[in-house]
Amino acid sequence: MNNFFKEDTIVALATPNGTGAISVIRLSGTDSFSAIDKIFSGKKKIIDSDSHTIHYGKIIDNEKNIIDDVLVSVFRSPNSYTGEDVIEISTHGNPFIAQKIIELLINENIRLAEPGEFTKRAFLNNKLDLAQAEAVIDVINARTETSLKGSRNQLDGILSKKIHGLREMLVNTSSFIELELDFAEEKIEFINTNELQKRIENIIEELNSLISTYSFGKVIKDGINVAIVGKPNVGKSSLLNYLTKESRAIVSSLPGTTRDVIREEISVNGILLKIHDTAGIRLSSNEIENEGIKRSRNTIKESDIIILLGDVDNGIPIDLFNEITTLSPGAKIIKTINKIDLTDKVFENCDICISALTGFNIDILLKKLVDVSLNTPVYSEKSAIVSNIRHLQCLKEAKKSLDAAILSIKDGLTGEFIAVDLRNSENLLGEIIGEVTSDDILNNIFAKFCIGK
Ligand code: GDP
Repeated sequence: MNNFFKEDTIVALATPNGTGAISVIRLSGTDSFSAIDKIFSGKKKIIDSDSHTIHYGKIIDNEKNIIDDVLVSVFRSPNSYTGEDVIEISTHGNPFIAQKIIELLINENIRLAEPGEFTKRAFLNNKLDLAQAEAVIDVINARTETSLKGSRNQLDGILSKKIHGLREMLVNTSSFIELELDFAEEKIEFINTNELQKRIENIIEELNSLISTYSFGKVIKDGINVAIVGKPNVGKSSLLNYLTKESRAIVSSLPGTTRDVIREEISVNGILLKIHDTAGIRLSSNEIENEGIKRSRNTIKESDIIILLGDVDNGIPIDLFNEITTLSPGAKIIKTINKIDLTDKVFENCDICISALTGFNIDILLKKLVDVSLNTPVYSEKSAIVSNIRHLQCLKEAKKSLDAAILSIKDGLTGEFIAVDLRNSENLLGEIIGEVTSDDILNNIFAKFCIGK
């Protein structure tokens, strides 16, 4: 067990800061029990209580004022979230009460926790590996059932298990080379070059298939940005309204950062669609200075999918199409003709005809949005999915290292060169699960957490 933080006991509010049925304050560290006993009055001292027991009593300040009646839950090391002695105090859900209790504890030499410090300790005490710790924040932030499943999958260690497996394959392969290096003088061959190359190529293939899950994993975790772009009056706002009205699962309705871009979030088949209406903006180069146009352009640049909306009178606006492909070469464009209820005309140079007024074909449009964004058609809850950019980068670098090893083999270089590349690749995979890590990486990761997690 890692005792890195042994000196400090930390405290933080674990529930949102506001009124509610209850608030929970969490304490972790060696002084948790002695500190709570200084301010808690119950039937029994907490320090004498068993792990996983709950105690009713009162929190009392130095002037013997009763602050609140509370429930104190006891978790003894190592059987706690952090692996340390942990106390959770459930109070009435009033922020003043929680604040007062935290102040009392700070007076007992307990320190306020840094963001993510509880989870960081859980990682340092080997309760979770790094990929699992990162999944904690994803579980908290998940806004659709699918994103929750995806982050649960990572928290349950499915990705970590895969990474462990790949590292093991690398270690086994390197061990042959290292043995050969040890017995260099005897010139014993423990693995022939073909076999070595085959093994490394095998691992590269596994890495590639893991890397290829990223776009899917990212969609599951973060959803997709969709922009509705078109000339004025083609029905952009009507489409956005229809989509949000129809969707039984409106996730949120945000008044955009500008009055020109309105964003709604809806969930379709468990996928979060963040739909931006670039309302009322004409993309014309002579108005390039206009703030609205700038924002609209930014929205287009950041979009994964663009619904390019035209109407039955004017068809698909080719000028906007060209502009979009310049601004966002990778974006998928769905050429959509609106107001099809007004005509029997058949449109050929578009992907879909809809009516934002009657709702005609809107279900198909939604299906298209989801299909276009999910490159991987099958999602198995048991398969390892990469959804974190840090993991993706490590995987890509690890693969690069193995590509270099293959080149070394082909160039007939000696074992030392190949061994270095394999070790490098192994370390990069180790970074994903935190077996190889630096303070910088850790600080970066845990700074994204909230205080109390
Ligand atoms: P925007 O400027 O692109 O946001 O367009 P609006 O959503 O404000 O719509 C412009 C006008 O077209 C409004 O009068 C809408 O009622 C009308 N409209 C929008 N969609 C349809 C449609 O599918 N069919 C018909 N007939 N009218 C529509």
